[in-house]
Amino acid sequence: MRLKRILTSVFSLSVLTLHTGIAQHKDYPIQPVPFTHVHVHDNFWAPKMEVNARVTIPTTLAKSKEHGRIDNFLRAANLKEGDQLTQFTFDDTDIYKVIEGASYAMQIQKNSALDTYIDSLITIIGAAQEKDGYLFTFRTINPAKPHEWVGSKRWEKEEELSHELYNSGHLFEAAVAHYQATGKKSLLNIAIKNADLLVHDFGYGKEEKYPGHQVVEIGLARLYRVTGKKEYLDLAKFFLDVRGPKGGKKGDQYNQAHKRVIDQNEAVGHAVRATYMYTAMADIAALTGDKSYLQAIDNIWDDVVDKKMYITGGIGATGNGEAFGAPYQLPNMSAYAETCASIANVYWNNRMFLLHGDSKYIDVLERTLYNGLLSGVSLSGDHFFYPNPLASMGQHQRGEWFSCACCISNMTRFLPSVPGYVYAQNNNDLYVNLFMSSSSDISLPAGKINVKQTTNYPWNGKIELQVDPQKNKDFTLKIRIPGWAQQKPVPGNLYQFVTNTAAPITLTVNGQPAKYDLDKGYAVLKRKWKKGDNITLDLPMETEKVVAHEQVKDDKYRFTFQRGPLVYCLEGPDNQDNVVQNITVSKTAPVEVVYEAGLLNGINVLKTKGVSTKRQVNSEALIKTEQDVKAIPYYAWANRGATDMMVWVPYEESAAKPKPAPTVASTSKVSSSIGTPKSLISLADQYDPVDSKDANYPYFHWWPKKNTTEFVQYDFPTEHQVSESKVYWFDDGPWGGCRIPASYKLYYKKGEAWVPVKVKNADGIAKDKYNTLTFEPVKTTAFKMEVQLPTEFATGIHEWIVK
Ligand SMILES: [Zn+2]
Repeated sequence: MRLKRILTSVFSLSVLTLHTGIAQHKDYPIQPVPFTHVHVHDNFWAPKMEVNARVTIPTTLAKSKEHGRIDNFLRAANLKEGDQLTQFTFDDTDIYKVIEGASYAMQIQKNSALDTYIDSLITIIGAAQEKDGYLFTFRTINPAKPHEWVGSKRWEKEEELSHELYNSGHLFEAAVAHYQATGKKSLLNIAIKNADLLVHDFGYGKEEKYPGHQVVEIGLARLYRVTGKKEYLDLAKFFLDVRGPKGGKKGDQYNQAHKRVIDQNEAVGHAVRATYMYTAMADIAALTGDKSYLQAIDNIWDDVVDKKMYITGGIGATGNGEAFGAPYQLPNMSAYAETCASIANVYWNNRMFLLHGDSKYIDVLERTLYNGLLSGVSLSGDHFFYPNPLASMGQHQRGEWFSCACCISNMTRFLPSVPGYVYAQNNNDLYVNLFMSSSSDISLPAGKINVKQTTNYPWNGKIELQVDPQKNKDFTLKIRIPGWAQQKPVPGNLYQFVTNTAAPITLTVNGQPAKYDLDKGYAVLKRKWKKGDNITLDLPMETEKVVAHEQVKDDKYRFTFQRGPLVYCLEGPDNQDNVVQNITVSKTAPVEVVYEAGLLNGINVLKTKGVSTKRQVNSEALIKTEQDVKAIPYYAWANRGATDMMVWVPYEESAAKPKPAPTVASTSKVSSSIGTPKSLISLADQYDPVDSKDANYPYFHWWPKKNTTEFVQYDFPTEHQVSESKVYWFDDGPWGGCRIPASYKLYYKKGEAWVPVKVKNADGIAKDKYNTLTFEPVKTTAFKMEVQLPTEFATGIHEWIVK
């Protein structure tokens, strides 16, 4: 009954006049050709979008239900007993994002069952909305006992962690997408009611607060575009302008509140928050004509591209605050490079292009899209990366679900929109930005045109475009010549190709070499086009070796392979002994490209020769072997179980990690007081850290335990005599949660009993070095280290050698 009453009120809202046609207000000078007009039927993206629709969207809906996301709405609507909440105050957004994704997917392929299911979700969302438009299940379920991040009053902790406005932002994006896909206003009306409440509550002289996690600015801009309600645009601008220190309160870098947005020049803090904000600044600049944001985002863009971006396009180097690191701080194994940050990087670079019309932004967009973003989802569409590391010793694998599921639901909404990045237009200029076989219906002021692309990109650089205007018409084609085809992997000098291959780019029109000017990275073809005109672009797709700026210490003496837009990596299953960290390849090694149809859904692999090194037990000398080396596209790694992987291949032996010698420790079964997590392999990986806080390579830890007695244990394959232990502690003070232990003791197994060793010499407990302890020799089959954690901290171990 209650549901019915609420529903009536939702649907009886006065219906606004919606602006549906071409933008009637100021907006980006360049407009994307909507994804609904670009029908992609290639062998690369079309199958990925199909898997997203067939597997990822239904799985994400099912997992959201299983993990209580829908129960939150049911409880807020009083349709389910109890006041339990899920873990995070942004959990409602998973439902919004998957509705957005489902809406896009339904525009590509009708799906009445999905449509009906989404309608039922929208009914529940509407029922969970409070009378005045407030929609945030984490308060509504039990306002007297809100989640600890939420605060006792609405908006009280918005600048910190309540995420009330973040939820609204994703609601707005979903509502616009759903309306555009189905023509139904059910979710849109819910969004409008919520947005009207925000307009009522926020502003100068009202709640003068900025969003703790940006995205509502983008959502309001979208809602403004469809409703024409200027209050939404004004509010989005307010949310940007109010950010910064105020009233004697110093803002945080973490959420970009350390300065006014127009005074910011560097990318700092939480990478997703930041990049959504830069995206919003571009939106608001475009929609208002206010140029004051442009200086800031132009400078920040340079900072990211010159100093803070992985070769995969990933951004946000450190897990510490999910944040941008210092300039050139780009660790590989501990790279954070969150999938959401890659998605945000695509959004932002697309906006920068729409503002400036320069192909350098599409170069960054394409790099991110084909590498650090696509790696976020498995080929099967049901496993996901949150961080996207550039090296692994098997400790990274995609998961089916995360308690913080942002990257998963974000992927569902991103993938169907990919065709929307292929073309853009500005009056009678048609931009061709990305290459994928497709047929597109495009309306220019000059008239309607069908454009067909035929290509085997990204495996091959030949692209054929057939232009079919309804009538012979003058217009300009601006075809992007990618930076990678002009010896420039990225704008700026963060990465460079090792050799200048500089093969010529050929562009023909109807079989004749075309004369063209290169303008902002585009080949400009201006003429009277007629039906059947054919353009062929041949991009020289060479296998390049890329090196990083000398200040990126993690990539020193290393290169990575790139071919076309794809960055490559070495992965265990394709290489000898299933390991790759021990491989060195010369910078001049010839590389062969081979298409393998049966591997990882069909990929071009790279084949070359290299040298691998192994340690020996009783000698410092390394055993070297020449071997075949094979590389696969980075996006396709981690689809064959836990594997060794590296993107940056050593060309100097000193940068490689020799395969461990079969020591007592490395051949033992390792266990601990917390079971056998994957990180236990780090104890005997013979990888010495730089110092105790070095988090770039695997380490084992007991966090968040403290003040307890724990252990690690080696079970030897056979009886061994041992007389020495060397342990290198993990200690990430002063910020992290691990410190050197209060004390530790060693035991050996005698029969069924654990007997303490008789210590001869112990050099104490200290960080940043091995702590050696010698004892009277014992013959045993198992050895144990008991560790007393400090009162207030956990402890971790980099390496534990037993001799
Ligand atoms: Zn995420």
